[in-house]
Amino acid sequence: MPVVEINYSIDFLPFEKKDFHFDAIVIGSGPAGATVAHQLTLAGQSVVVLEEGPLVKAENFPESSFQAMTQLYRDMSTSMILGNCPMPFVQAKMVGGASTINGAISWRLPLHVYHDWLDQDPGLEPHLQWNDLQNIFNKIEFDLNIAPTDEKIAGPNNLLLKAGADLLKLENRPIYRNVKECEGLGRCLQGCPKRHKLSMENSYLRWAVEKGCTLFPNVKAQKIIVEYQKAVGVLFTTLSGDQITIKAKNIIVAASAVQSPSLLISSGIKQGPVGKNFQCHPGISMAGRFPTPVHVWRGATQGHEVIELCSQGIKFEALGYDRTIVAMRLKGVGKELMEDISQLKYWANWGAAIKAQAKGRVIPGRNRSQIIYSLTKDDLVKVRKAVRILGEMMLAAGATYVTPGVQGWHKKVLQPLIMAKFEKEVPLNPKLFTMAVTHMFGTCKMGSDPKTSVVRPDFRHHHIAGLYVADSSVFPTNIGVNPQTSIIALAHLCAKSVADATP
Ligand SMILES: Cc1cc2nc3c(=O)[nH]c(=O)nc-3n(C[C@H](O)[C@H](O)[C@H](O)COP(=O)(O)OP(=O)(O)OC[C@H]3O[C@@H](n4cnc5c(N)ncnc54)[C@H](O)[C@@H]3O)c2cc1C
Repeated sequence: MPVVEINYSIDFLPFEKKDFHFDAIVIGSGPAGATVAHQLTLAGQSVVVLEEGPLVKAENFPESSFQAMTQLYRDMSTSMILGNCPMPFVQAKMVGGASTINGAISWRLPLHVYHDWLDQDPGLEPHLQWNDLQNIFNKIEFDLNIAPTDEKIAGPNNLLLKAGADLLKLENRPIYRNVKECEGLGRCLQGCPKRHKLSMENSYLRWAVEKGCTLFPNVKAQKIIVEYQKAVGVLFTTLSGDQITIKAKNIIVAASAVQSPSLLISSGIKQGPVGKNFQCHPGISMAGRFPTPVHVWRGATQGHEVIELCSQGIKFEALGYDRTIVAMRLKGVGKELMEDISQLKYWANWGAAIKAQAKGRVIPGRNRSQIIYSLTKDDLVKVRKAVRILGEMMLAAGATYVTPGVQGWHKKVLQPLIMAKFEKEVPLNPKLFTMAVTHMFGTCKMGSDPKTSVVRPDFRHHHIAGLYVADSSVFPTNIGVNPQTSIIALAHLCAKSVADATP
């Protein structure tokens, strides 16, 4: 299929005209913002999307993950969660948000999480009906072509995970992904060069723009303008430093669970627990050396998952990287390291995402936001268990050895019997583990009580009229599975709420 580039006509945006009026301003073009923009445009509203990052052509998506991080990811992926286990949090800054560089893994909101939310706040139920959500998920799965990964393009990294999990009798399955005609190029995390991923710039956002929605890339929303407790506009800056104000009946903040609370706070909208209740899924990964080539940079980037322990808050996924990242993960020095680098094609890489209980908070900064967050003891118990099972699955699948990457423990493990001792021998010291975070939630929590939540169950801000939050900031808790499809589903509900409230 030829790459069809998107014609957003960005060269012709009338920036010299500084007095814009729209029905709705959407801040952020990721899964949340793109969905709201599409739905409101379909409802006949005039919509503008403000996106801080650039619109990147498929031909310019870099092959190297390292380059992708420097060009497409926010702050070159160097923003840190500070606490007892410092770890980077990874976000995109580009049109499409993180959907453009994510693994395309698609999950519905789990029923037990939905029940947790309603148990915590029964006031959510009238606005968050399970049957409505299922209808929306059906529609999203149709729109975004969500389907299990085809074994033909999965590649060895995914198939070995299946083999290891099968041998240990752990329930597993091909990952459901939002892709079309995927060729298994292994480049999801750098942006699909063939645009075979139905990420937002290649689906909802594109369809919105085709129906008349305006997109301003490379502009940063600096402030939400509030007059008499009503949001009336947004002040944004362009790349050249111009400051422009636009006005609208409604402002929908969809800048992510980190940037949305930061924008509210720096706009002086500080009511309720904004920025607090930060939750996430810390991720840990393991590499293993196999006797036959794996070529972890080929095949579906993330094509197979182990779901046996999801109910315990641990989910395993194959995780393909390009050579630069695989090489960076290797331990050792000198001749031994050179030898490992020359054998890169034999390495597999899998990860685990943890549904952590810890809560933290986002603190806005002048140039970047910070997160303060410390894992609980129970979280570390899960992390440790995940590492053991990753190692056991790899060895069961035939790895010659695995490298757990945990300080102070065996650098290489060749025997399942050694791996089995991991939980007994490694203390619950958060500093021993190397983790990263890509799924974040909860910082503008939705709820019926303005003291304990930031937006109402219908996504309206409790105190500021005409202001909505649409992204995973509103999730009352983390969800234990990959969030983008749930974000899209809730953003549909947010858009409906905006449309219903607009005369
Ligand atoms: C590497 C990686 C892999 C992932 N893999 C998966 C996966 O396979 N499946 C899954 O379900 N989830 C995955 N995720 C998580 C998922 O992509 C995110 O949860 C999701 O994209 C969040 O959607 P969002 O719309 O809330 O925010 P984002 O996708 O972060 O989009 C927010 C957008 O707002 C823009 N923005 C922020 N502040 C401003 C401002 N002040 N002015 C203008 N624009 C602004 C940002 O530049 C960004 O483009 C992954 C994430 C990463 C980083």
